[in-house]
Amino acid sequence: MSPRILENALGAVGNTPLIRLDKIAKQNGLKCNLLGKVEYMSAGGSVKDRIAKAMVEAAEEEGKLIPGKSVVIEPTSGNTGIGLAMACAIKGYSVIITLPNKMSLEKEAALRALGAEVVRTPTEAAWDAPESHIGVAQRLQREIPYGIILDQYRNINNPLAHEYTTGPEIIDAVVSTPSTTCRPSSGKIDVIVAGAGTGGTITGLSRAIKKTHNKGCIVVAVDPRGSILAYPDELNLSDEGKQYTVEGIGYDFIPDVLSRDPSDINSWIKSSDEEAFAAVQALMRKEGLLVGGSSGSALSGALKWLQSTQGQSVAQMEGMNVVVLLPDGIRNYMSKPWFLKMAMEAEPSPLASIIANVLHET
Ligand code: PMP
Repeated sequence: MSPRILENALGAVGNTPLIRLDKIAKQNGLKCNLLGKVEYMSAGGSVKDRIAKAMVEAAEEEGKLIPGKSVVIEPTSGNTGIGLAMACAIKGYSVIITLPNKMSLEKEAALRALGAEVVRTPTEAAWDAPESHIGVAQRLQREIPYGIILDQYRNINNPLAHEYTTGPEIIDAVVSTPSTTCRPSSGKIDVIVAGAGTGGTITGLSRAIKKTHNKGCIVVAVDPRGSILAYPDELNLSDEGKQYTVEGIGYDFIPDVLSRDPSDINSWIKSSDEEAFAAVQALMRKEGLLVGGSSGSALSGALKWLQSTQGQSVAQMEGMNVVVLLPDGIRNYMSKPWFLKMAMEAEPSPLASIIANVLHET
């Protein structure tokens, strides 16, 4: 039996639940199973904890990190930074995170709380400009003694963390849940949908599932309008360079760890902020899941794919398993105008007038 008391918080990275999204499925006329892999339940609050842990442990094994001396420097949209800051707090390395301005205050606060230094960079800087989050990280690394960039955009341990942990966890959950009359299941993952930032999640998931579980699984990647990750390139043309609010997905360059090979990633869907935020609201209101913006992008992309010509046959077949990766939680975005508007300016419920009447009568 594995020990129940964990050595430290890194033992609580991953092993997240796969949760049925039955109400959203029903609302959208789906007969297939719609399942959410809920990553905010990981120790640092996101899917990126997994790669942070894997990259730090691999660097340690290669003798690249020296406790008390090494300074881990990483350009990130925040979640990889939080995972790294958590791992480095535990292991005794200093951390500097370069973070584009558009990323939330909550992420910066969490990073600082974990002891990291945070350097903000202009969101609109091109990835290869010296003032971008990547350029600034490189400059700091050149100048700071014992500075090291683990580099999630190129580090093989990024997709491998998902191939070795996220993918097998989903496979295990699907395979070990029996098919019953009221909950039929094909016993396999038929479709998997995830947003792409570095592309490590979708690439690693595809490898895990296609190599070891179901070669015919349809892998769908979601890319925000304004980004250029989607393939073929024509999908990106109409909105290229447009700013968008959702954090953590989309880029203006193709990271090395992202496979755009159509045999790895079968289909790409573009998603808008509006679609993403509507899907976040549905996940909260219908399923009680406190997810962040890119979870909405992933869900809205999944629903769009299921409405497409190819997707419709899956959508209407009982027992087909469609898994959506939900990367982080709303606690990263509590002060963002899009969330405050959603939470505070929602349609008043019928209870509001009852409350008002009761309080006026007393
Ligand atoms: N959503 C959020 C909130 C993220 O922080 C990230 C990581 N950038 C992603 C999605 C995309 O993950 P990946 O980098 O593995 O493509």
